[in-house]
Amino acid sequence: MAQHNGSNNDKHVYSFGKSQTDGKAEMRELLGGKGANLAEMTSLGIPVPPGFTITTHVCDYFYKHDQSYPDTLRDQISHALNLIEQQMSAKFGDPDNPLLVSVRSGAAKSMPGMMDTVLNLGLNDAVVKGLVQKTQNERFAWDAYRRFVQMFGDVVMGVPHARFEQTLQEAKTSKGLSTDALDTELDANDLQTLVKEFFSIYETHTGSPFPQDPRQQLEASINAVFGSWNSDRAIRYRQLNNMTGLLGTAVNVQAMVFGNMGDTSGTGVAFTRDPSTGENTFYGEFLINAQGEDVVAGIRTPEPISKLHDVLPEAYEQLLEIRSNLESHFRDMQDLEFTVQEKQLFLLQTRNGQRTGAAAVRTACEMVEEGLITPETAVTRVIPEQLDQLLHDVFDASSKQQKVADGNLLGTGLPASPGAASGKAVFTAQDAEIIAAQGDPVILCREETSPEDIGGMAVARGILTARGGMTSHAAVVARGMGCCCVAGCSSLHIDSENKVLQANGHTINEGDFISIDGSTGEVLAGQLATQPSEIVQVLIHQNRDPGESQLYQQFSLMMEWADQHRTLKIRTNADTPEDSSRARQFGAEGIGLCRTEHMFFGERIVQMRQMILADSLAEREKALTLLLPFQRQDFEGIFSAMNGFPVTIRLLDPPLHEFFPHEVAAQETMAQEMDVPLDHIQERVKQLEEMNPMLGQRGCRLGIQYPEIYDMQVRAIIEAACSCEKKGIDVHPEIMIPLIGTAEELRFLESRARTVADAVIQETGTTVNYLVGTMIEIPRAALTADEIAETAEFFSFGTNDLTQMSFGFSRDDVAPLIGHYITNGILPADPFQTIDQNGVGQLIHIGVEKGRTTRPDLKIGICGEHGGDPNSVRFCHRAKMDYVSCSPFRVPIARLAAAQEALNNS
Ligand code: PEP
Ligand code: MG
Repeated sequence: MAQHNGSNNDKHVYSFGKSQTDGKAEMRELLGGKGANLAEMTSLGIPVPPGFTITTHVCDYFYKHDQSYPDTLRDQISHALNLIEQQMSAKFGDPDNPLLVSVRSGAAKSMPGMMDTVLNLGLNDAVVKGLVQKTQNERFAWDAYRRFVQMFGDVVMGVPHARFEQTLQEAKTSKGLSTDALDTELDANDLQTLVKEFFSIYETHTGSPFPQDPRQQLEASINAVFGSWNSDRAIRYRQLNNMTGLLGTAVNVQAMVFGNMGDTSGTGVAFTRDPSTGENTFYGEFLINAQGEDVVAGIRTPEPISKLHDVLPEAYEQLLEIRSNLESHFRDMQDLEFTVQEKQLFLLQTRNGQRTGAAAVRTACEMVEEGLITPETAVTRVIPEQLDQLLHDVFDASSKQQKVADGNLLGTGLPASPGAASGKAVFTAQDAEIIAAQGDPVILCREETSPEDIGGMAVARGILTARGGMTSHAAVVARGMGCCCVAGCSSLHIDSENKVLQANGHTINEGDFISIDGSTGEVLAGQLATQPSEIVQVLIHQNRDPGESQLYQQFSLMMEWADQHRTLKIRTNADTPEDSSRARQFGAEGIGLCRTEHMFFGERIVQMRQMILADSLAEREKALTLLLPFQRQDFEGIFSAMNGFPVTIRLLDPPLHEFFPHEVAAQETMAQEMDVPLDHIQERVKQLEEMNPMLGQRGCRLGIQYPEIYDMQVRAIIEAACSCEKKGIDVHPEIMIPLIGTAEELRFLESRARTVADAVIQETGTTVNYLVGTMIEIPRAALTADEIAETAEFFSFGTNDLTQMSFGFSRDDVAPLIGHYITNGILPADPFQTIDQNGVGQLIHIGVEKGRTTRPDLKIGICGEHGGDPNSVRFCHRAKMDYVSCSPFRVPIARLAAAQEALNNS
């Protein structure tokens, strides 16, 4: 253990045990979750083997000082070890009366299985003999020694685990046992021989003999545990789980107790409630005559915890009592590890149990009922993302596992829109519509989607793309529809011309079954059964009695509590009356973004194309007149669904080329259908081509070049609003002009919009109040927000484009690159999924502040995909926005996240 001179005399080691307990539950940042809770349990009088915790600060020190330690650490460890020895009436390294210890990791936030553990430490050739004497159990002592050599070799010195396992199997076969025979069939002599063989494996791989000095073993193990904090898998786990700001792991050294001392010993894991359903029942499993790693390794099948009552009734009763004490003390569901040594029960760990979304909601609601927690605490107990699990279809977990094990995984893309779907692979939107019309489920597989695919997307069970990121067209539209989507799965080769997909040695032709998991990004060959979400059946399909669904009732209660605390309004992004009513069911308080371009597909595409092909203003206006009734009808539907709530409608945004087919065959069909020469179409497509369409002729620039398009849209919006108003529907239209970069652009379009809108109001003799505002999607708009707010009555941050333009990352092409950025620690997360608070966030703060300087009552929201990401929702609360807008299925997630942030700040 390298010591560093000149460090201070801080307390680095905290003891727990009958004679002295220095820590407590609140000290989890310093002692890690495990260490803090071991101290807390000790103070509660729960039987815990004594030990000590080396703090997370030491881990931090270790990495900041070239893997060395504070100079007082060694003495503090010796002192704490002494305390253990006194309590256990045994001595570390003493062959006559040996004490063995375990060395385990434990960070402030749980990282199950990600870091290292060493058990049975303190054994050597002399001590093992002492252990035989002390326990009068020769088999046990040699078994403990061979486990220790194996674990120390593997975990501390990096000797391949498989080498030990292979030798263990050989020991069984040479004894005439089958390889799946239990280790317990090996006797003391066999194990003694095995230890010798393990020594030689150890020496071959490390170049030195197995260390016999227990103190050296201890220090090397402490080094290894601290070292494992920065192992690849631990780093990856923290990245995947957004775990930032931790100092490091603590190290817990604890007296060993043994579950492998015969038939009155055992070990197990239990949850104080069922972690998958939340039911208030003791849940868990155990193994008799075993050590912890046997349960994890799955060598023997554990028994359900209720059976412990038959074999070790006293330990079971005591465990039940501890279960209830721990729950009422920690006021949360606990996940326990225990060991019974010759009928005597010991607790080795307690922590808040990981649980499914359903279990989180149920446990929180029932704990409020039981008086354990308040509704406010209940709101903080559910991780917002977990609500996804309650709203989307899911695959049966074991069937999926089996499919993966059978080699059917085709690849893993971005989990773009959650849910699970199986269906026949189709490669064009048209084929999707044809096959779906025959009643078959389809998965639309595209290199990437474009607005012209919308019809096929609407009928698909799932959408799969080989390119594109989390804000690609496919991802955005799928989320809006609540349709499952995996995007940017680059290992797939999709050939839509030949209608075939190839990946991982599989060939999927049109009509072959394929399954996608939009919550994990997995793509599998073949069919898989899905389980429907109970809540969606009640809320959306309305084919289930709400009174019969306990989960629905608990979910509603949780949402009700959340709504009592949040101050941020939650709107939705929806383009159709159906999506709007669905979003209302999920609790949306208006529409934050209605993208009008999706309304120009289907039967309206002909008029839209006529409009784009038009050579003169008169011709264009003629086509627009035909489009107007369609738009008006859509808006009426949406206003009716959103009766009483605001509806923000964005005027046309995408470049016009998106409304034309790019494949020659489709252009030919278009020419025939519209009775226009093919070369006329191709010439127009060529004219519309741009090097950088996302930076080109789109958004307000379209409105400036073709003001008649926006005039028609404004007329349709206000005519629809007036007509609804007359029917007694309470309408609040908000006309939104996209992609503004200068105040002048907005002034030009706003004045035109008002002229049209006021004329319609006059014509119809109604009093509709409407707002005109803009999206803030271009950094320049954020920086000049004070000027823009002179005209804009509201701002909606379009964070998809704002992120694209701030980073200079093309939102449709960047996905593969982002993966490399995250793996290399260059970016902490995908900025298209969660707001880059440092950069894009600054632009938002500037926009909010400057905008409100000019117009203090400026209404401000966000409508980029970030509006449904819990961390971004929290950011929006802090940025003092009025609302966030997200896809319908994310509305409950945003409601919960907004409430949690409000509670956090209150
Ligand atoms: C945005 O840019 O954030 C936005 C909502 O607009 P779109 O995704 O349609 O470009
Ligand atoms: Mg945009």
